[in-house]
Amino acid sequence: MPAAQVSGTIFRAVTQPRVDFHRGRSARTAVTLVVLLAACSGAFAADPVEPDLVDVRSVDPTIVVELRYAGTRNIAGRALYPENTPALVRPSVARKLAYAQGLLRERGYGIKIWDAYRPHSAHEQLWRLSPNNKYVADPKTGGSLHTWGVAVDATLVDAKGNDVAMPTDFDEFKPAATLYYAGPDQLVKRHLRMLQAALARAGFYGLRTEWWHFVVKDWKKYGKADRIELINGNRAARIVESAPPASAPRDANGRASGASSRNAR
Ligand SMILES: [Zn+2]
Repeated sequence: MPAAQVSGTIFRAVTQPRVDFHRGRSARTAVTLVVLLAACSGAFAADPVEPDLVDVRSVDPTIVVELRYAGTRNIAGRALYPENTPALVRPSVARKLAYAQGLLRERGYGIKIWDAYRPHSAHEQLWRLSPNNKYVADPKTGGSLHTWGVAVDATLVDAKGNDVAMPTDFDEFKPAATLYYAGPDQLVKRHLRMLQAALARAGFYGLRTEWWHFVVKDWKKYGKADRIELINGNRAARIVESAPPASAPRDANGRASGASSRNAR
């Protein structure tokens, strides 16, 4: 079965009502009756179903978010996402990011998210702007893992959330954007290594041509989410339309060393 046909898991936990079994028989019967009636009326409702996607800041509010495709500082020069779009990822991805954030905060740094879940329609616009599969994944051959909610574009910030020196800006498609920094600036090299080490320990791969792109190693557990609906006051989303890609996305062939071998974002 193609990996894409395996959709995200939804968890449902059921609250177990407590009953005091040290009471008399009539009391137990009464309690049981109350429990049954209450369960039937929905008074003992199940815990909420975990959403398909969550805002990373709802899991760790210290993570800085600056979605470049929600503003004008991107290759399109205009917003591709609605303003105030949250940085959405799969819940397990958010927890991994929070783990990496904890590692970085111990050292006085943190993560800034430049891109997270990307609607299929926005990815198609990017492809039309830059139809070069060296940098943009062709929507016809599986598209980007951003549309699965399992990839993020991330950079490093200091403890106050200010940008620090990194190899390039977002979406600067040039040799300096490669995974392994080869320039002379030792501070840039240190920052990049720190970001990559934290995300690797949290379970992410890097991408050979874009140092800012990270994919979770267990991406095959999930699937493509073409269309979503925001819920919980825009802090989460559910997938309303999903489709398996024609083939595995081009940025999914990661190696355990932390670099994925193909080029796409
Ligand atoms: Zn990316």
